[in-house]
Amino acid sequence: MLTMDKYDYRNKRVLLRVDLNVPVSDGKILDDTRINKVLPTINYLLDKQAQIIIITHFGRPKSGYEDKYSVKFLTEELSKKLGIEVSFNQPMEKITLLENIRFNPGETKNDLEFAQNLAKLADYYVNDAFSCCHRAHASITKITEFLPSAAGLLLQEEISNLNNYLNPIKSPAMAIIGGSKVSTKLSLLQNLVKKVDYLVIGGAMANTFLAAQNYDVGNSLVEVELIDTAREILGSKNCQIILPQDVVIAKEIKENAEHHVVDISNILKGYMILDIGGKSIAKISELLKKCQTVIMNGPLGVFEYFPFSLGTTSVAKTIAELTQKGSLTSIAGGGDIVAALSQADLFDQFTYISTAGGAFLEWLEGKSLPGIKVLES
Ligand code: ADP
Ligand code: MG
Repeated sequence: MLTMDKYDYRNKRVLLRVDLNVPVSDGKILDDTRINKVLPTINYLLDKQAQIIIITHFGRPKSGYEDKYSVKFLTEELSKKLGIEVSFNQPMEKITLLENIRFNPGETKNDLEFAQNLAKLADYYVNDAFSCCHRAHASITKITEFLPSAAGLLLQEEISNLNNYLNPIKSPAMAIIGGSKVSTKLSLLQNLVKKVDYLVIGGAMANTFLAAQNYDVGNSLVEVELIDTAREILGSKNCQIILPQDVVIAKEIKENAEHHVVDISNILKGYMILDIGGKSIAKISELLKKCQTVIMNGPLGVFEYFPFSLGTTSVAKTIAELTQKGSLTSIAGGGDIVAALSQADLFDQFTYISTAGGAFLEWLEGKSLPGIKVLES
């Protein structure tokens, strides 16, 4: 991989692509992890006396400028954290942040001319946005055709952690995959059954698998068109697939909704499966004790509402304990699981948590990431 130390940045301009797509509500930044994570690269470049032009995207603007997607609010936050004034859209200054790169339709189209114009702003290009590397966008891939390029410190850290811990995966290994839909994680499941000894399927995804085993899952979310595919995955050799034995069911999805814990053969009419039950949690915990590695992606229940968060947090607590004891290497990634782990205050107790959602998944699926490929030396 092309690293930053290849070049001399003294009095040169560097286009630095980062991911500052932070969660915001009512104009407030809810979580500043993404900002904190790119500070080392910015400081490295400042130290080398580079002039820095920061690029990020924010949200998914449809076409052109939209007030609510402007990134101007980030300049103040960056200035505060760096202790140096960050200007906005002034590429001639020491350090500046450019407006949301996705306001230009050339970005997502990986447009050649757009990348070429962007390249004219600088002498070098640094990519520190691992979470965007699964996208062939102009400021991630095309730009590297016009500027000498390198990987930033965060991007390098993400890749080397994933490689260190998961390539190859030390067995016995378990993958715990939850979340809302089988369709979004189908190729992940198909790849994982070849790589891990135990595959735990939870969340709404499990419903489709239970339906494939002819259980009546009541009003639960099921992807009927994937039942056959689920049967194929269940037939995988060399990988034990673990589905919930008992589940928490309720009629509505809300905080403290009236609920029951039942075996999967006793799901009541009109109810939905919203979490895994105690027997399932105990079974997963037992198996985890035998494992050297665990990968967790996707919550095991509707973790946004208590008590349906308990399946996810109980399993995560066991993982945290075994990790702290030194018997387990634990890796987690994906938007919602990261939120669930922060909510349960377990963020620091896993071996490694990737901040990338889609890129983490595609890496796990064994796909080559376009943004990484162009940085290979
Ligand atoms: P991640 O972002 O971690 O990859 P997903 O986006 O695939 O996860 O899925 C997260 C969503 O899945 C959460 O909003 C959660 O409420 C939902 N979910 C989990 N279990 C269930 C369930 N049994 N029924 C309905 N939704 C569920
Ligand atoms: Mg998600």
